[in-house]
Amino acid sequence: MVFPFQSVEDFKVELTQEHELFRKAVRSFVEQHLEPRAMEIEKTDRVPEELIEEARKAGLFGVGVPEEYGGQGGGHLMAAILMEELARVSPAFSVLIGVRDLFITPILLFGTEEQKRRYVVPVARGEKFAAHANTEPCCGSDVAGIQTTAKRVNDHYVITGRKVFITGADRADYFIVSARTSPPKPDKRWWGITVFIVERDWPGVKVGQRFNVTGLRGERPHEVILDEVKVPAENVVGKVDEGFKVVVTTYDHTRIGIAAQAVGIAQGAFEKALNYALQRTAFERPIISFEAVAFKLADMLIEIQAARLLTYWAASLADRGDRRFIIAASLAKTFATEVAERVAAAAIKIHGGVGVDIETGVERYLRDALITTIYEGTNDIQRLTIIRQLLRDVFGIRLTLT
Ligand SMILES: Cc1cc2nc3c(=O)[nH]c(=O)nc-3n(C[C@H](O)[C@H](O)[C@H](O)COP(=O)(O)OP(=O)(O)OC[C@H]3O[C@@H](n4cnc5c(N)ncnc54)[C@H](O)[C@@H]3O)c2cc1C
Repeated sequence: MVFPFQSVEDFKVELTQEHELFRKAVRSFVEQHLEPRAMEIEKTDRVPEELIEEARKAGLFGVGVPEEYGGQGGGHLMAAILMEELARVSPAFSVLIGVRDLFITPILLFGTEEQKRRYVVPVARGEKFAAHANTEPCCGSDVAGIQTTAKRVNDHYVITGRKVFITGADRADYFIVSARTSPPKPDKRWWGITVFIVERDWPGVKVGQRFNVTGLRGERPHEVILDEVKVPAENVVGKVDEGFKVVVTTYDHTRIGIAAQAVGIAQGAFEKALNYALQRTAFERPIISFEAVAFKLADMLIEIQAARLLTYWAASLADRGDRRFIIAASLAKTFATEVAERVAAAAIKIHGGVGVDIETGVERYLRDALITTIYEGTNDIQRLTIIRQLLRDVFGIRLTLT
């Protein structure tokens, strides 16, 4: 036994030539369409429409989504490669594409056939946009604490509440929305939450303020206000009152994409630091010849490769349908996002003064990396998940950790 796994085979990473061909195709998209616009996205704080159109034409919105639902197929590993390659140059653009996972995943895992055809297909084709509205002013980590309500009235529900930090809300045609439909049970705080698909055009849906967060310029989150929104009962995703499971299972899958974003951020920052260290001279020598700089670069590379392997491994387990992907995804998300933070900070320092000049385009990686440690479950929550999964899977112990 390779504690906490059973066999060395459990560490298999299922990369094929197809993945490499795909990576090269994305790299070429990035070089042609994204790289020339990365600083424009940062400075104007918006993603140009023509870039979104190019991404749609390239089929990027459907990567990892089954072909029968309008996607390109490819699974978690392919989707992770996409996130990594995009985030290497523009983390904000990787988020614009990646946020559809938070909408598609719950529907693919828990939705009806009708919901998949009606909502997943246009989003996977890039014809419609979607967002995921769970976080509220009261609660982000504490999903069971949400206060938005959904009251059943005949054949529909009436939803009222306020969601905050919703990525992609400004552009979204559809939302996944969590709301409380019943009071919690005394021994089950999570009971009584239900997940719905809500359309932007329905009366009572309003996208409010944009949050002025540190990073991800071009794709910053918004507030979503739901004022007595009438939602048909057939738009419930999964079972009524059991939506907590829908939300947390979604994050189990989607946080692999966050780990991949972090790997891309770290890789982008590293490449900039390496180039600079080769070109910049001090004391009549290239700065890479100073051991202090060279060792910093070596440490960055060590951590990036480890983060990449963890991420690909988590994606491979998920693609194999091995439920231990949950612990692997939390290991990868926590490690990779903290590596991205450390690498981005080191990259700034290697650049010296110009490292903190916005024009250089390196400090933005640190601002973006910070956010990856927070969304889709803060790294504190990941650490709780890691221990909870370990105790449950290896020892059969169910512990309440808070
Ligand atoms: C840029 C950005 C985009 C986002 N996009 C979306 C989106 O599209 N959809 C969406 O629904 N949400 C989104 N979020 C919200 C995000 O998921 C939450 O901010 C995150 O889950 C943390 O929740 P919180 O902000 O309420 O912090 P809190 O839950 O209040 O946590 C505050 C601090 O307490 C710690 N903490 C809380 N509980 C525990 C515990 N049990 N054990 C240990 N430590 C704990 C946390 O780790 C954190 O350090 C986004 C956030 C940002 C910043």
